Amino acid sequence: MNVHNMMEDLVTAEVNALYDQVKKANSPWLTCDCKNCRLDTISYVLNRIPPKYVVSGRGVTHSNEIFSNHQLIADISAVAMDGIRIISSTKRPFHTLPREECELQKEENPSFNFPTFSGTIYDGSTFEPISGAKVLLKLNGKPVDMVDMTWTNPTQTFQSTKGSFTFWAKPIPAEKIGESRRFEFELEIEVEGYEKSYHYFEIPIISDGSTKTELNTACSIKIRDVVLFKREIFEEDSQNEEK
Ligand SMILES: [Zn+2]
Repeated sequence: MNVHNMMEDLVTAEVNALYDQVKKANSPWLTCDCKNCRLDTISYVLNRIPPKYVVSGRGVTHSNEIFSNHQLIADISAVAMDGIRIISSTKRPFHTLPREECELQKEENPSFNFPTFSGTIYDGSTFEPISGAKVLLKLNGKPVDMVDMTWTNPTQTFQSTKGSFTFWAKPIPAEKIGESRRFEFELEIEVEGYEKSYHYFEIPIISDGSTKTELNTACSIKIRDVVLFKREIFEEDSQNEEK
């Protein structure tokens, strides 16, 4: 069966249109709009919005439906603008290399492949999503490497993704296929005006025969929502408790 993610067409069209628009406006923050940068932005967006799969050949009716969904298009534009800004501001030493060299190489070695981890950060008193949070993913006290440069660690939360963040950790070599191990991850979250907070989650993984290079959205883990409190409010509360 041949399946196709309908979002690819929509996101590709939207990202290219936005790049053209930003380029035309001579926006000073746009450092590059080469094919590699555009592809990075497209994967940035596709990794952050839910896919919509159809069986190839049945796409036509679905594509009309999707292309006329204005709310969806507005959301995609917002995430795409974040993506363009991030890709433009990321210094990438391999930027001038041919695309193939930046892409994930599938390796035929036993590996622990991680699902993507996603979570959302809320304000504890308003329950509004918090944007501008810096989220660092650690394993054994060290920042975790991501699969490729469209994934950043630390990452940030944005308004358009409604306070959510996603990580895709780079596979870790295993001894053999079928090895089982528990990984204890740590999240370090910093937002201006809020208490710095730490969260932990454990994930059992069974090793595969090779590294996973394609993102399977079925393979995604939602981390418990993170609730943060503003520094002043937090202090007031603890003083009240003491009395
Ligand atoms: Zn470029």
